Amino acid sequence: MRMPHHDPVDLRPQPPAPPADLHVQEALDTLADVVRTLGRYALDVADLEPERVQHHCEGWASHVLRVTPPPGLPAGTSSRRDWSGLRRFVSEQRQQEQRLVRQSVGDLRQAVVTFVQALNLSVAEDEESDRALLDDMEGLRARLERGVVAGVQDQVARIVRTLEGLVERRRLRHRQQMAELSQKVMAMGHRLTEAEREKQTDPLTGLFNRRVLDAAMGEALSLLVGFQHPATVLLLDLDHFKAINDQHGHVAGDEVLRAVADALTRTFPRRSDVVCRYGGEEFAVLLSDTPAKDAGAPVARLLDAVRAVRVPRGAGTIKVTVSVGGAEARPSDDPTRWLERADECLYAAKRAGRDRAVHAAT
Ligand code: GH3
Ligand code: MG
Ligand code: MG
Repeated sequence: MRMPHHDPVDLRPQPPAPPADLHVQEALDTLADVVRTLGRYALDVADLEPERVQHHCEGWASHVLRVTPPPGLPAGTSSRRDWSGLRRFVSEQRQQEQRLVRQSVGDLRQAVVTFVQALNLSVAEDEESDRALLDDMEGLRARLERGVVAGVQDQVARIVRTLEGLVERRRLRHRQQMAELSQKVMAMGHRLTEAEREKQTDPLTGLFNRRVLDAAMGEALSLLVGFQHPATVLLLDLDHFKAINDQHGHVAGDEVLRAVADALTRTFPRRSDVVCRYGGEEFAVLLSDTPAKDAGAPVARLLDAVRAVRVPRGAGTIKVTVSVGGAEARPSDDPTRWLERADECLYAAKRAGRDRAVHAAT
């Protein structure tokens, strides 16, 4: 008869097990910590805002610990923990991160592949034409060495023609390659700009700050020099803002700044346009891919959007207008020189009566 098998039993004295509710508390603490860590080290890839992810994770951690409402749900929705909601959140979060990382890596790979293909193609073409040319030259040298003069003229003419064709083909090919690469860089540039745009925002308005604008202007100048992609910067200064502060107080002034910031964000929803608070009551907008001649319509919308701002105060409302100076980038610019031209136009707009835009000649 076989004896029933038992696992060996550890007979050494064990530390007493903590009471069950202590275990539960420890598990909840750990889970909350795990969720927080997920948020603290959220991936900084395009289309994912790490601050938002962190905020959501904090919300879930607090839900786990204190049964506060899960992120996105109003207070008092339920007094129980929403475990399936948490699972869904973590799973969707990871899936989204994975998708975006794959996409970014895919973009980069695609650009490298295009570049390598173009390089291979040009090397192959070059080798072929170089070989033909070398054969011709070799023939010519042999002829000259043998003192055969007949036909030399023809051969030299052929070599010159080959060389001319070669130079022309290479020129065309390079232009085409630059155009293809330019498009890829452009598509990627937008993503990278977003990914790398330091998430430096102005605390009052939530807009980007001046550092982000400087960096974005630097990138825009590179795209202009390298690939002839135009860009226009707009500098904005609220009109008679001191009077608003004096009349309604600083807090009301701040509210107007926030309302103008919202209006600007709504007017320029393209992710490639950078809207920032430049300082005080001054704002700036960088329009990618936009020459000054195409900035008229967006600037008109901007002026209208600011005119439409209403901030309720007491029995009435505060209204405001803005003056705008616009300048298109030149290849010889640096960000400072570029902004100076916009600034001169801004003051021209002020002198001309405010509530209007003036553009620099390009
Ligand atoms: P102009 O049309 O010539 O631009 O007139 P202005 O009164 O707007 O010009 P000025 O530059 O003299 O005044 C700007 C005012 O903006 C002065 C300053 O007190 C106010 N200001 C700057 N930053 C803030 C801020 O963060 N909040 C508030 N409420 N006011 C600010
Ligand atoms: Mg000012
Ligand atoms: Mg002002």
